[in-house]
Amino acid sequence: MKCLVRAVVATLRLSLLASMALLVLPALAAQQEMPTVYMGTQDALGLGNRVEYLEDPSDSLSLEAVMASDTAAWQTNKSDTPNFGYSDSAYWFRVRLVNAELRALDALLAIHYPLLDHIELYMFEQGQLIFDAVTGDTYPFAQRPLRHRDFLFPITLHWDVPVDVYIKVRTEGSTQVPITLWNAKQFGLIDQDEQLIKALYYGMMLLLVVYNLFLFLSIRERPYLYYVGLASSLLVLMAGAHGFMFQYVYPASPYLQKLVMLLAVPSTMLFASLFATFFLRLDRNAPRLYMLLSAISLLFLACIVGAFFLPYDTSTRISVFLAIPASLVIMFVGPYAWVKGQTSARYFTIAWFFLLSGIFVGAASKFGFLPRNAFTEYSISWGSALEAILLSFALADRFNRERIARYQAQRDRLQAIEQRKHIEQKLYHQATHQPVDGLPNMVLFQQRVHRLLHDEDSRQTQFTVVFIHLERLLEINKTLGHANADIILSLFSRRLPGMVDNPKVFIPVSEEEGQFQYFAHLEGVIYACLLQAVDASELKTQALRMHEALSVPVEFNSMKLDLGVSIGMASFPQHGRDIATLIRHARVAVDCADGHPEHIALYHDDINPYSARRLTLMGELSRAIQDDTLELYYQPIVRKGVRDVEAFEALLRWDHPSLGFIGPDEFISLAEKTGLMRSLTYWVLERCLKDSQSFADTPKLSINISVVNLQETDFVARVTELLRRYEFPPQRLICEITETAVMQDPAQSIMRLHELAALGIQIAIDDFGTGHSSLSYIRELPVYEVKVDRSFVMHMTQRENDQMIVRTAINLCHDLGYKVVGEGVEDDATLSMLEAFGCDYAQGYHIARPMRVRDVAAWQGSES
Ligand code: C2E
Ligand code: CA
Ligand code: CA
Repeated sequence: MKCLVRAVVATLRLSLLASMALLVLPALAAQQEMPTVYMGTQDALGLGNRVEYLEDPSDSLSLEAVMASDTAAWQTNKSDTPNFGYSDSAYWFRVRLVNAELRALDALLAIHYPLLDHIELYMFEQGQLIFDAVTGDTYPFAQRPLRHRDFLFPITLHWDVPVDVYIKVRTEGSTQVPITLWNAKQFGLIDQDEQLIKALYYGMMLLLVVYNLFLFLSIRERPYLYYVGLASSLLVLMAGAHGFMFQYVYPASPYLQKLVMLLAVPSTMLFASLFATFFLRLDRNAPRLYMLLSAISLLFLACIVGAFFLPYDTSTRISVFLAIPASLVIMFVGPYAWVKGQTSARYFTIAWFFLLSGIFVGAASKFGFLPRNAFTEYSISWGSALEAILLSFALADRFNRERIARYQAQRDRLQAIEQRKHIEQKLYHQATHQPVDGLPNMVLFQQRVHRLLHDEDSRQTQFTVVFIHLERLLEINKTLGHANADIILSLFSRRLPGMVDNPKVFIPVSEEEGQFQYFAHLEGVIYACLLQAVDASELKTQALRMHEALSVPVEFNSMKLDLGVSIGMASFPQHGRDIATLIRHARVAVDCADGHPEHIALYHDDINPYSARRLTLMGELSRAIQDDTLELYYQPIVRKGVRDVEAFEALLRWDHPSLGFIGPDEFISLAEKTGLMRSLTYWVLERCLKDSQSFADTPKLSINISVVNLQETDFVARVTELLRRYEFPPQRLICEITETAVMQDPAQSIMRLHELAALGIQIAIDDFGTGHSSLSYIRELPVYEVKVDRSFVMHMTQRENDQMIVRTAINLCHDLGYKVVGEGVEDDATLSMLEAFGCDYAQGYHIARPMRVRDVAAWQGSES
């Protein structure tokens, strides 16, 4: 019913208006052609396609001229929004507004484009100017008739009075003039909604800007800075375009409004391309795109600079014109990087897609392809907001990814370092240890000695290098094979830690994981350790103890194997002040110990076959033998009483031309080591056979022979030959051999001595009591006499111990059927004591010192 009434009223109203129009027609002939708009109960009326416009290219027409101009000059506008693009012309619009209601209507004429430079508006009621205004964004905000970001002009439309409106618009930017006639009350409501939405948008964008700015300040990653630049430029661009900035930020400064709008587009694009470049790491991932985007960035930077110099329209046109292809490029790099496998490019692509679709939807609704509603109206805002949010996510995501990647890389690096360290350690261990038993090798041992010598904190003032040699291992190696020899070696190695009963005596060779190693395995058959002591007797005690413990045969495959341990030592600083010398001398000592009865030896220059003096002597000894420059001295061995000469012992003397007198103790061992012993012994034998011819009586001759001689296969033959040549009966020759020499090679010695004895030569055991020979061996020898060592005899009158040894030795030997010689008789008391003990013969300085052959006759003469 109500509806019906309304419809009827409306129809009535219209017909009334029509008849009124007919009535006033003649009076308003000139204005009759004005395009007319009837405003009724609508909220708003778009005037775009209802107005007429007039282009004024030179901007020279006055209002009067415009009002008077010919109807034909006016053109009707077809589109919803008059849009003339970038045009230098001024445009005039005209429209007649008629109230279709019976009561007065408060209306607003709105131009919804805040960027227009200059707007003039005139309203006429019945030819009478009732309102005029000049405004635009080149004028201070205060000049506006109503304080609003859009241009609003209030009109009161009386029901029977049409209002003619003339509007002039001139602008340097794009000339678009969206004119709407609003019901003032409705406008207020709708504007409130719009403001709310925009405030939300600005607030959110501002939040993103501030948030990311803080992120940038804390993590200093460049993409964050570009993001902040991009989002704030976008915010300024949107707020500027909405007229919001002008209204609230700088209402008194049209200059700033112009400048900000000039800068907003190029700076948005500049930051967009910088962001894309650094966010997607184009420098690494796509060098060509990197160059392209760098060029784009530079172009927009130039636009920003240009904005201060170029005319407004040129500047905006360049920026907008460049923005289109640049956006397309930026739009392209996202999917490109995505396709190339960059995960962070996903967000980037989607973000730009939102912005572009926002712009697209906005444009489409503007051109009527899409309906106008809240969604399409604000699509650019939505799009840019979504873009900003997504890019912010993208940054967070990228940051997170990179942090994980960095963390992982860090972990990988640490792992690699750990692994390398492990391998290095293993290699180092391999390089410094023996594979057979894992003991430190020569490298480590030398390092240790080096430290003892040079390191401030571990420097030692004295220490001893001990070498342990397994003489018989080569033999075992040949017999049982390499693999077995290795097993035997490792069995032996296991004993070594047991040696260290007192860690104060031993210096550790190495320390690994808190475990000390006191022994090194230098090479196949040589082990080594380090002792604190250097005192000879202390070292001897230690060495004997170790020798005894290590000499226990190794049990292997139910065999008991004697490895033939010998120990050689060299002390710092006495025997060497550097590693090389100490090690060389320890080796010399261990070589010497091999032939020593106790199998231990402390280095001494004399035992070193390689010392300079020895090298000289070695060369000259053979010359001395050849040149006959050695001499023989003779010392009598007497029977009961002083004059009864049983034999003369031949003793070598070497009066060296430059070194002076050299005792046999020094050069005999040298001859033994260098293979001169053969010729030396033959020289001695021959010389004393010759000399003996000048002796008064015909006593026996006693010569000293060495183990080396017993090893010669033709020794017996040569001796026989010499005896025969000098027609010397073998029964008058005594061969003295030390028990130690016999023990070095018992089998050979026993055999050879038997051969000599078989010839009739008498065998004497020399230096009896000093060696470790067992009587059981001696019993197998064809011994004629035993010479009790002078060390027991010399002091026997003072030492009861020695007395006892001598007496026991004499008794023992007699029991076995041997004659006994007491050496080193230096006084009468000793001689008497020996006689009292029943000793058969005596020898010593008390009887006679060793003498030259020419003195022998004199001595014999004086004695007899
Ligand atoms: P040896 O065979 O035990 O010779 C005895 C050594 O005792 C000699 O020293 C002699 O001078 C020394 N002597 C003799 N009576 C006394 C005494 O009353 N008091 C002291 N303190 N010493 C006494 P020498 O001549 O220096 O010979 C040392 C060693 O050199 C000999 O010890 C012997 O093993 C070796 N030797 C000497 N000549 C030869 C040789 O022609 N051939 C070999 N193979 N060895 C030799
Ligand atoms: Ca002798
Ligand atoms: Ca002797």
